[in-house]
Amino acid sequence: MIIQPKSRGFICTTAHPQGCAGQVQRQIDYVTSKPAINGPRNVLVVGASTGYGLASRIVASFGAGANTVGVYFDKGAEGARTATAGWYNSAAFEAAAAEAGRKSFSIVGDAFSDEIKAKTIDLIRTELGQIDLVVYSVASPRRTHPKTGESFASVIKPLGETYSNKTVNFHNGEVSIATIEPATEDERRQTIAVMGGEDWEMWIEELQKAGVLADGATTIAYSYIGPEITHAVYKEGTIGAAKDDLDATSKRLDAKLKETGGRSFISVNKALVTQSSSAIPVVPLYISALYKVMKEKGIHEGCIEQMYRLFSDRLYNGAEAPVDAQGRIRLDDWEMRDDVQAEVAQLWADLTTENVYDLSDLKGYHREFFQLFGFETEGVDYEADTNAEVDIQNLR
Ligand code: NAD
Repeated sequence: MIIQPKSRGFICTTAHPQGCAGQVQRQIDYVTSKPAINGPRNVLVVGASTGYGLASRIVASFGAGANTVGVYFDKGAEGARTATAGWYNSAAFEAAAAEAGRKSFSIVGDAFSDEIKAKTIDLIRTELGQIDLVVYSVASPRRTHPKTGESFASVIKPLGETYSNKTVNFHNGEVSIATIEPATEDERRQTIAVMGGEDWEMWIEELQKAGVLADGATTIAYSYIGPEITHAVYKEGTIGAAKDDLDATSKRLDAKLKETGGRSFISVNKALVTQSSSAIPVVPLYISALYKVMKEKGIHEGCIEQMYRLFSDRLYNGAEAPVDAQGRIRLDDWEMRDDVQAEVAQLWADLTTENVYDLSDLKGYHREFFQLFGFETEGVDYEADTNAEVDIQNLR
């Protein structure tokens, strides 16, 4: 079939296999151009098919030479429907890892379920023995609790008061004011149940109980803080409440893992274009302004640059990982620099529909959004008849 982008709002319902493979190869090339990392040997990445999780898996495999197990929720092609981007990304990753002689395995299904945890543990036991790094990078709009069966939906809303700020339709550059009503207590509770730390803790407990987590193992999950502009909708909102829960979970996991010489971290990462961040009001316009400033200063990073820095400078630097006063790793250090934020705030005040392409990098945002789905990728013929059905090697 001829595969073109079909988007509705912040969702693109098609993906291109060769374009996704090209994006994965670009990330592999970046990592292999850098010094090797003396890092983990056997790595589990939960939420491994896109964004920060995929980049973590690429760095583990191609930067540290680790064997990897990736767990993710994606669908293969069916009839006239293409596979999801995460499916094509993972197919490309698995093929490249096999070619490079690394062991790698994929498990597709709901990471929140007992069934997928059990299946992953069986796989680790038979193929790898034990793992020494668990990356938890799931971003999901919903979760069904494995014990109670309750279904939760996460929302992105402020807490307490109605919030209004600028936002952009990144397809046509229209800047408008988004007004979001505060969340109810139940919405806050449900968002914490989806995006908080309960499932991460369940993974670590199950892995430990099964004896497949090595002594001295590390685990890490990702968070975001961001500037004043986005606080009401992020840090001080429902998602921020879930991230507070993730922080508290990390402290508990750290205490537990320390008994066997292990450690748990939260890494606060930079705001980047991913399928998850494009769904948050206000944030895409902030990211566009941020990209403009960071690119001009020569300090812009994408997921792969951030994750390479996480592994090489922080987690596996041969010394203690540098952390902030709350014990968190800060990869948002360049984003939060005073000079960067002062310039973003200035741009923010001036941004309108008329000047958005001059004052911000909305063009770059738009391109990166479509690249997430394998479009706008160099060297791909989007007019060519393409087989949408792609198998993932080592799918269990
Ligand atoms: P993403 O949407 O690109 O990736 C989410 C991953 O989770 C995918 O691999 C998807 O398959 C997987 N997933 C979703 N539901 C699942 C389920 N039920 N079972 C198994 N896998 C499932 O998201 P991302 O932006 O890379 O976010 C990853 C983490 O990084 C999140 O905790 C997010 O808050 C955090 N983070 C993101 C940003 C940003 O700007 N994007 C910044 C800082 C921190």
